[in-house]
Amino acid sequence: MCSLENRSVRIWAVANQKGGVGKTTSVVALGGLLAERGKRVLVVDLDPHGSLTSWFGYDPDTIAHSVFDLFQHQGKVPEGLPAQLITETSCKGLSLLPASAALATLERRMIGVEGMGLIISRALTQLWDDFDYVLLDNTPSLGVLMVNALAAAQHLIIPVQTEFLAIKGLERMLHTLKMIMRSQKNELSYTIVPTLYDRRTQASVKSLNLLRKTYRESLWQFAIPVDTKFRDASQGGITPSALDAETHGVRAYSHLLDDLMSRVGTVKERQHG
Ligand code: ADP
Ligand code: MG
Repeated sequence: MCSLENRSVRIWAVANQKGGVGKTTSVVALGGLLAERGKRVLVVDLDPHGSLTSWFGYDPDTIAHSVFDLFQHQGKVPEGLPAQLITETSCKGLSLLPASAALATLERRMIGVEGMGLIISRALTQLWDDFDYVLLDNTPSLGVLMVNALAAAQHLIIPVQTEFLAIKGLERMLHTLKMIMRSQKNELSYTIVPTLYDRRTQASVKSLNLLRKTYRESLWQFAIPVDTKFRDASQGGITPSALDAETHGVRAYSHLLDDLMSRVGTVKERQHG
């Protein structure tokens, strides 16, 4: 029996069925800021593309151990595996559980395997003692990996690009997410986070206004601005200075983090077998 009761760890998933909306950037920024504030943070790459893994200078095509190992072990974590799986990063206090290209084959391998949706949840109960926060980065496709993330998380962060078409897709995605959560009997709270906001463009301003009109409770009322620092950092691998720097993007993420920390409760009581 895996229990999430009475634990002080917080597990947040960052997801959206659309690519390029700032999911991975949000995981890096929030993870880096939490570590800067003295928290012990594990960021987990659940995207076969491995963008998060690449951020930290590892190659998902050649890496020996990854999240994939957890699936091979059905979520049971043998002694010695955490040391092979979890790697330190250049940010003090921030650890990475990387993705490998093998994750792309998971969908095919996991067909019909009982309990396949709870692998990450199970594994985390054995790994989280060393961490205060676990952040799960996701692939845009709605498959076994995303189902695992939704089952393991206590809160969902949904980055949405401030652009009309992205907002149109949001309603459809929320509907699908709610259906999955209902089938898992795990109604997650969520925060919609407007991203890539450029106040000089009508498209961004109008989109943010539309989001504010449509989603009140679940919307973070501010927005993450376009900040070229993020684009540069994602290409060169993370350096602590990329986050230490007081750019407007980092400041916005810091503000978001304050709001998430005060808004999201620690642990939701639930159990699964
Ligand atoms: P996702 O994980 O949703 O696919 P990413 O976080 O990888 O999206 O972001 C997609 C691209 O946009 C990347 O090149 C990233 O560096 C860039 N990006 C993300 N957020 C910002 C931002 N606030 N300002 C500028 N570029 C950004
Ligand atoms: Mg990504």
